[in-house]
Amino acid sequence: MNGNKYVKSLIEFMDKSVCNFWAVQTIREMLEHNGFCELNACDAWSVTPGGKYYVVKNHSAIFAFVVGDGDAASGFKIISAHSDSPCFRIKPNPEMLTDGGILKLNTEVYGGPILYTWFDRPLSIAGRVMLKGKDALHPETRLVRFTRPLLTIPHLAIHFNRAVNEGNPLSKQKDMLPMLGKINDVAEKNGYVLRMVANELGVKAEDIIDFDLSLYDTTPACLVGEHEEFITSGRLDDLSMAHAAMIALLESNEGNMTRVMAIFDNEETGSGTKQGAASPVLAQILRRIVGCLGGGEEEYLRAVASSFMVSADNAHAVHPNYPEKHDPTNHPVMGGGPVIKINANCKYMTDADSAAVFKTLCDEAEVPCQYFVNHSDVAGGSTLGNILTSQIDLRGVDMGNALWGMHSVRETASTDDHVYAIKAFTRFYNC
Ligand code: ZN
Repeated sequence: MNGNKYVKSLIEFMDKSVCNFWAVQTIREMLEHNGFCELNACDAWSVTPGGKYYVVKNHSAIFAFVVGDGDAASGFKIISAHSDSPCFRIKPNPEMLTDGGILKLNTEVYGGPILYTWFDRPLSIAGRVMLKGKDALHPETRLVRFTRPLLTIPHLAIHFNRAVNEGNPLSKQKDMLPMLGKINDVAEKNGYVLRMVANELGVKAEDIIDFDLSLYDTTPACLVGEHEEFITSGRLDDLSMAHAAMIALLESNEGNMTRVMAIFDNEETGSGTKQGAASPVLAQILRRIVGCLGGGEEEYLRAVASSFMVSADNAHAVHPNYPEKHDPTNHPVMGGGPVIKINANCKYMTDADSAAVFKTLCDEAEVPCQYFVNHSDVAGGSTLGNILTSQIDLRGVDMGNALWGMHSVRETASTDDHVYAIKAFTRFYNC
């Protein structure tokens, strides 16, 4: 067993964080356990130098900070990541009854999953439900997670499609619907999922007004490789970076600037929600911190001008079966350390200035680091960094640890790289 405490902590974290809501809940519990106090956006805030606080938005984004020396213009050291991962969301009225009483569920794809990887796995359901609350504007939120496997998406037998291994296009509406069980009476169909959820939560089905529920693979995270070099798990993008940021925040204890961890939702669909990186949520939190320390707009702008952000979202490790997909001279390898992402057309916020900062931090932390640049004929992805700079005038770097199989239901990362990222992030917060 890889005995590294950070790797063990990552495995536990991944198994608890089965969707965006549960990732935020897991982070919240760890922050509470370490003395962080929750601030509610509706209340008046009071923060003090050295104080530890967190703010939750929509139960799916979370922002934690440790206040610096109390000078309102001291600035922020920010690490950002995202809580969401590609998956299947359950549609309203999802029950579909088929021959023999088999009940299947109508779902919608969230983000860009590799559809094939979801077949023939033990799946279950997690998310949040809204219950009747004190008034119409304030429904009560409850998180729900079925831990036992409940569903599977069976693949069509090869006998019905002999060409399946030569490539087989998939319909999200036809091929990807999961089977939930078998019912004896047609009357059971309507409201079946709501009754299941009500049972699980110990509430009445008629008290559930609505839900955000998604599917997840119940297979736990595990280490693989002759020397346990790798971790394989669902949702490593981007929860491995969220975990590294959180551990670094908990373990850092130096510096004058306020240390901030920002975990946004909805990166996989473009960040355009109120809890996403394109919203003003982080800018407003930073502004309120400056205000609590006695500063005004001038101090806020000075603080932002001296801030730095590490936008942490996973990168692609060179795939041994497909080296031709990668850049000939800048292809990150597993175990080669955190990856600085560069793009000539500015899809990433990294420039020579911010890369120099991050390389120096890695150097000081005694961890290796490497570059990712797209193969010039392959279009790459985008991430949080530039989206955030449209809201806050920040200097910063886009980076992330290298993965295999990004957006597969199980992704693979290097255990060494995870430890390196935590060391680099801790050095950043302490510098
Ligand atoms: Zn990501």
